[in-house]
Amino acid sequence: MSLVVIGTVAFDAIETPFGKTDKIVGGAATYASLAASYFYDKVKIVGVVGDDFHKEDIEEIKAHGIDVEGLQIKEGEKSFFWSGKYHNDMNSRDTLITDLNVLADFDPIIPSSYQDCEYLLLGNLSPQVQKTTIERLNKRPKLIVLDTMNFWMDIALDDLLETLKLVDVLTINDAEARQLSGEYSLVKAANKILQMGPKYLIIKKGEHGALLFHENKVFSAPALPLAEVFDPTGAGDTFAGGFVGYLAKVGTVNFNNMKNAIIYGSALASFCVEKFGTEKIKNLSTDEVAQRIEQFVQLSSFTIEK
Ligand code: AMP
Repeated sequence: MSLVVIGTVAFDAIETPFGKTDKIVGGAATYASLAASYFYDKVKIVGVVGDDFHKEDIEEIKAHGIDVEGLQIKEGEKSFFWSGKYHNDMNSRDTLITDLNVLADFDPIIPSSYQDCEYLLLGNLSPQVQKTTIERLNKRPKLIVLDTMNFWMDIALDDLLETLKLVDVLTINDAEARQLSGEYSLVKAANKILQMGPKYLIIKKGEHGALLFHENKVFSAPALPLAEVFDPTGAGDTFAGGFVGYLAKVGTVNFNNMKNAIIYGSALASFCVEKFGTEKIKNLSTDEVAQRIEQFVQLSSFTIEK
């Protein structure tokens, strides 16, 4: 049994009030698979890079026990490139460049060794490719989680709506939930989005935590108040990877486990933003992760005096 993660494996150039990076390794699948690897040991990537991607960077991903057989390397082509700039309010950012490059005609190949997929994370990528991935699995996974962003709502809304009918969980941020539903209230937005296909909806609210909606239930998870948010890039993907990685580890999908999974995802995302790119989430110890989870437990634990 395995957890298959599909998404971009990319180069990013990031600017925040704390500094600027040249091209560094990023991409939704990179962040998500690294995060998932802290909880589950059978994580497999599907993606594509150009021949400008360094062998050592792929080795670093493999060093986390992540299977890269499904990562295609296109000779003579360039990797997906994204550039973004954050201002003092790190909850919003400007995308400066999105160069699809190898992604423009990406045809996801699912190696036969990936057909044991039980948990599928459709990381941020074209909804058409996300759908094709589901179709190319011989057996429907036990859980399909889809992450997306405004970019795809802007250019491929119909494809996205088709793909949403096939998934169990959708993770998006608050602005994207409003865009997708046309509702400002997140409760109304959630009600509408839950009619579009997913049984569970997670709305990420950056430094204000995340909300999980399912039927008529809602769960609110905090975000850890941090003195310094260095670089929020990849926090959403890291969240999704930690979330599914934890569910794959426990092996049972229900509302209660989803609540815990959101805390695990939030804990990993809180590490992600502490350094540029994948620097922090590449090098975590199990003790650090366990302590961070405990901080989350303490953060909103209280008893009511009667
Ligand atoms: P997040 O901050 O969680 O939204 O993820 C940022 C990561 O997503 C970066 O590493 C980018 O390479 C990647 N990314 C940015 N735009 C897109 C896009 N349109 N499709 C897929 N991945 C993207």
